[in-house]
Parts: sequence; C-alpha cells; structure tokens
Amino acid sequence: MKNKPPKVPNSARDIAHYIATGQVSLVGAGPGDPDLLTLKAVKTIAAATVILVDDLVNEAVLQHANANARIVYVGKRGGCASTPQAFIEKLMISEAQKGENVVRLKGGDPLVFGRSGEEIEALQKAGIRVHIVNGITAALGALASLNTAMTHRDHAHGVLMVTGHAKPGDPGTDWRALAHTARQAKLTLVIYMGVAAAQRIQDELLHGLAADTPVAIVQDATLPSQRQALCTLDCLHQTLAEQRMASPCVLLIGDVLRGLAGLGQAEVAELARGQM
Ligand code: SAH
Repeated sequence: MKNKPPKVPNSARDIAHYIATGQVSLVGAGPGDPDLLTLKAVKTIAAATVILVDDLVNEAVLQHANANARIVYVGKRGGCASTPQAFIEKLMISEAQKGENVVRLKGGDPLVFGRSGEEIEALQKAGIRVHIVNGITAALGALASLNTAMTHRDHAHGVLMVTGHAKPGDPGTDWRALAHTARQAKLTLVIYMGVAAAQRIQDELLHGLAADTPVAIVQDATLPSQRQALCTLDCLHQTLAEQRMASPCVLLIGDVLRGLAGLGQAEVAELARGQM
C-alpha cells in the first residue's frame, strides 16, 4: 500500500483511503443481532480498508464492508489459542502507518471489557489517530430481550459492571465487598465473563446479598440462539450446570429483575423471542 493517497481518488478503496489516511477506529459490533449496529458503525465499516475482527462479532456485520477490504480474524477467547494482544496492537499500528483505514471490530461496545484502554494507549503512543464508535453492550441487549430495565427508581439506583475473569496474577474482584455495596446502595450487578468462576462468585456474593436475590443468565443475547434462565443467587451455579449454559453469558443480578420472578422459564423464553 502506498503511503500517499492518489490526487484523484478513482475507486471506493482510494476514496476511503483519501478521506481517512492512517487511522484506527475501534468499533462496537453490538451483542449479536446485526440490526443493532449503529449507523455510525455501518459507515465506519464501509469506509475501512482493513478490518480486524474479534471472535464475538457476528460475521453478518461484514456485509457492510467494502468488497476490497482486507478482513483479518484476530479472535481471542480466554483459554483458547488466540492472537496475542501485542500482535494485534502491532498490526493495527503498522497498517495505519501504511495509510490504511483500519477498523477494529469488537463485540458489544468497545469500551466495555474490550481491552480498548490498552489499545488506545498503544495507538496514541505511536501517533495514530483513534476513533471510538460505540455499540450496544451485551448486558443491555440481554436486558432488552427480557423487557427489563437496568435501573429502577424503587429497586436499583445504579449499576456495577464487573468482569469475572481477572488478568493472570491479579486477585480480581472482591466479591464480598461488592455484594455489600450492591445491597447498601441498591445497585444491579452485571457480570461479564462470569461462567467459569460462577461458583466462587455465588459463594462470595452470598456474604452480602440475600439468597433469594433474583438472577438472570443470558447466553448468546440478541441472537437466534439466545437462551436464558432465571434463578435466585443461591442457585446460580447449579442453574448454569443444569441448563448447560456456557460462554458467552451475562449474569444479571438484583431486585430490578423481580418483575420476572413470577414467570416460568417457558414464559421468559416466549418473552425473549417476542423481542427479537
Ligand atoms: N465489549 C463486550 C464485552 C466483551 S467481554 C460488550 O460490550 O458486550 C466478553 C464477554 O461479554 C463474554 O464473556 C460475555 O460475558 C459477554 N458477552 C458478549 N456477547 C454476549 C452475548 N451475545 N450474550 C451474552 N453475553 C455476551
């Protein structure tokens, strides 16, 4: 790829190149349903010459990409063979330095547990322009599918978004402290990447939250494959195991879910289907 765009751009690729030389956009692809992409995300994807795709991104969103765009899959799931983060950062920098209009497509919103903080730092250090395009984060997609708000004047004055998967060597979240805070301040708990540590999360949260605190587990939120289970906090791990639920799941915990408590699993499934 040439470093300078041509004086008179004559192809879509050249036009995209001409408009935005050497930049990286971190773009949220939403939780799964491709209709949840923002218009800004669609436009940014269409203008990209190189697209780096994370593994939770629904490939259907690539229908908006230019036919000449180079698509690179850089998925990396905890515990699986993956593209190292340092390699992804180097690739973004080198492509942008060559003049490419790089889009890094991430599941949900790029600012929520997407390692965007590290990427923004690396790109800025290399002198690369960075743009952020928001997406709908998984928990909000999941809550919408259940017709449930994340806050409520009577039950939830705010939200704590927490990861269940700490960096290796990091002791991770103090779940007991979190449970006390959530109870005292009336906060909804939204846990990402919580499946593997669900038993410990449940045991620790029970030190501060009531056993009958409502929980919703939503897997593959907003996709046709979505599954969900309702339970109480003392049955979180058991429910995950019995329903054979696996990553990607969000765990939604708190009184804001009480409105669903009277419904059976079949009724909740019906509700979720009706929202899609
Ligand atoms: N940036 C993403 C989160 C990335 S971390 C966002 O804003 O949604 C990856 C975790 O997100 C998964 O382990 C899971 O907890 C959650 N997740 C992503 N997509 C999901 C989906 N469709 N359904 C349920 N959880 C999902």
